[in-house]
Amino acid sequence: MTRTPLVAGNWKMNGRLALVRELAAALRDGKPEGVEVALCPPYPYLPALGEALAGSGLDLGAQNLADHGDGAFTGEVSAEMLLEFGCRFVIVGHSERRQLYGEDDDQVVSKFLRAREAGLTPILCVGETLRQREAEETDQVVVRQLMAVVEAAGVEALERAVLAYEPVWAIGTGLTATPEQAQAVHAGLRAAVADRDADIAGRLRILYGGSVKADNAAPLFAQPDIDGGLIGGASLKAEEFIAICRAAG
Ligand code: PEP
Repeated sequence: MTRTPLVAGNWKMNGRLALVRELAAALRDGKPEGVEVALCPPYPYLPALGEALAGSGLDLGAQNLADHGDGAFTGEVSAEMLLEFGCRFVIVGHSERRQLYGEDDDQVVSKFLRAREAGLTPILCVGETLRQREAEETDQVVVRQLMAVVEAAGVEALERAVLAYEPVWAIGTGLTATPEQAQAVHAGLRAAVADRDADIAGRLRILYGGSVKADNAAPLFAQPDIDGGLIGGASLKAEEFIAICRAAG
């Protein structure tokens, strides 16, 4: 089963218009073949980045969306709005949303469903904390997070979705799962999907995220069940991010 790798850059709450221009120009010139690349800037920069990427083959994504359709939800942004500004992807269930903003599995499921209904491709994040890893609960935690969505949306919903395994202890810490640790979790996630539908499991892209850098990307992406990366800090530096994309392609 060949799966086209995907590298998605999550800018988090970083960047200015100058970065939009710099990264768009560098990526237009430097994007390698054989890999899909998506950039997920903060909401206000979506229109400018969308314009700067037009016709480049690079994709736009958002970092979050509302769990409701349009209406009286002050401060929220709907899936339809993201679509209107050219987003293809949206990150759902990032650990910073779960930990800092109290998003639980129910909200993650609602956001996943809203994204799919509107025609966006959710990038569903799952991952364990350090305490959970040390208690040897990793597989149980990530499969529970995944199955919350599968039970509500049906396994077919994964046909137009991407999964990202992001160990919480590796995000923004400089600690990375070893390729073997990451591969073991990715294989477990794929097996859990295969229990429901082997074809869908074979087609599902599972990204690794957690302190991926140019110098550790290649051995991670060489693992059979790792289909690219969700990149935080390193996606803000053009050369570094392009090198990561190259490692995936
Ligand atoms: C992320 O926030 O999704 C992430 C993986 O961040 P970092 O690469 O900075 O660890």
